[in-house]
Amino acid sequence: MPQQIGCLGGGQLGRMLALAGAPLGLEFTFLEPAEGASAAQVGRQLVGAYDDPRLLAQLAADSDLVTFEFESVPESSAALLSQSCPVFPPPRALAVGQDRLLEKRMFQSLEIPTATYAEVGSNSDLVAALDQVPVPARLKSRRLGYDGHGQALVLESGELEGAWVELGRAPAILEQVVPFERELSALSVRARGGEVASYPLVENHHEAGILRLTLAPAPGLTPELESQAAALSAALLDQFEYVGLLAVELFQVEGRLLANEIAPRVHNSGHWTMDGAHCSQFENHLRAGLGWPLGGTSSSGYTAMLNILSVEPDPAEVLSLPDAHLHLYDKEPRPGRKLGHVNISGPDPIQVTTQLQALARALSVALPDPAQPDSYWPV
Ligand code: AMP
Repeated sequence: MPQQIGCLGGGQLGRMLALAGAPLGLEFTFLEPAEGASAAQVGRQLVGAYDDPRLLAQLAADSDLVTFEFESVPESSAALLSQSCPVFPPPRALAVGQDRLLEKRMFQSLEIPTATYAEVGSNSDLVAALDQVPVPARLKSRRLGYDGHGQALVLESGELEGAWVELGRAPAILEQVVPFERELSALSVRARGGEVASYPLVENHHEAGILRLTLAPAPGLTPELESQAAALSAALLDQFEYVGLLAVELFQVEGRLLANEIAPRVHNSGHWTMDGAHCSQFENHLRAGLGWPLGGTSSSGYTAMLNILSVEPDPAEVLSLPDAHLHLYDKEPRPGRKLGHVNISGPDPIQVTTQLQALARALSVALPDPAQPDSYWPV
């Protein structure tokens, strides 16, 4: 009898978990409200709310193990499931990841550097926050912010109150705008027995708040950056007694890493691992949950991951590039929606760069300038 994995959420992350799990003999059931979800093509879907008690009971009864792929599933659902079935990552990590204030406090308690911030929950907090946080700053709602939603830029102190009204006076944090050199993310995985493996740090580029490009490994990585990332990831993983894949989004500022947020799940900036690492983030997440040995996390060359947003490309055009791997999510096109991604992966950074540039031209995507005219990575 194949092992049954239950999953809260049935989007593309669930789909890619199931695709990675199939060769390992795993079968999936997704609890997801949207009919015909991306993951439903590769597993069974229970259609309904994430907090429907009847469907949660069914998911627990049908599963040997439950995970989640969507950050905004209620922590109470994960906690309820964990009473009758092992759930990974720990529901507490989900609760912290859903609340920017808890997240910041967690970083602080582990002495992980962050941007200067202050809590905003009342009118009197507005004044206090401006004393603590220099402008320009970003006001971010504590909950339900993603891809730049639930945020307002505060350029001068007089704008803070209006920004808070704009966010519906929702509990928020005010955070200093940091002059980062680049955005990175650290993906690591912790097994049931406490074994930890980390993927190389990657560099991320966003477009209108949405991830567009990941370069793996991050160009110009130094041992110093890698050891900072390893230390902060290990501290977080241990603190939660974590099981599964954890992503930490980071800003690099003058050689230092500041933590921005965690994602207690497989992450878009880890999609490169499907074609560019020995074992993908999806497979390693499942191995960790099942108590199986972790797979290798080193990169097998250079990979550029380009997200496909809004419009699906012609597969034949993408695949005319010799090192391109196309991953589509079977989602209805909509402006700004993530519909798939392309990994361009190979041993030669110049060839990867050239093919990425050709792909970007074909998809009308503007790329950041490479560090060298012909390569994103030092050669
Ligand atoms: P977030 O939802 O916190 O990931 O923010 C979305 C994007 O806004 C990040 O990927 C950054 O590009 C930018 N951003 C967020 N916080 C800051 C900050 N404190 N300083 C500068 N840029 C930021």
